[in-house]
Amino acid sequence: MCTNRKWNMSNAQQTLAILKPHIVKNPFSLNQVKNIILKSNFEIVCLKRKIISIEEAESFYSEHKGQFFYNRLVSFMTSGPSELMVLARENAIQEWRLLMGPTKVFRAQFENPCSLRGQFGLSDTRNATHGSDSPESAVKEIQLFFPEFS
Ligand code: UDP
Repeated sequence: MCTNRKWNMSNAQQTLAILKPHIVKNPFSLNQVKNIILKSNFEIVCLKRKIISIEEAESFYSEHKGQFFYNRLVSFMTSGPSELMVLARENAIQEWRLLMGPTKVFRAQFENPCSLRGQFGLSDTRNATHGSDSPESAVKEIQLFFPEFS
């Protein structure tokens, strides 16, 4: 579901965030991650809990097809419900990626232990969260999971 009010803060940007299945499975982690999101001045504009289908995961991660981790990634992302969000704030794409921390969990734990991946990541695949990496991917990813909002 998405907030009804028209979102019109000047300088605001939107990004797609995914809280991956191992976070959603653990109510304590889920609650902690959501509190961190709100404390970091993001507005949760849309929120949907769903099991990502194999077709959606394959299309979402198509740039990684052929990588050693691709099959493991698709199978993890479809293993249970994820929470999908459109987050908004100034400079949302970069700020969300900063809050997430590096992709690889050992780097996140070493370089930025307070990041979401540093705190909640379990492995390079189960690294807690996803965030769009550019304005173009944000538009594409929001359209994929929230066609009713775009
Ligand atoms: N991934 C993985 N092993 C790796 C690198 C990436 O399992 O060695 C997974 C991880 O879940 C990551 C996703 O593939 O979030 C997409 O990788 P990308 O390089 O796009 O990183 P992100 O944009 O998520 O930081």
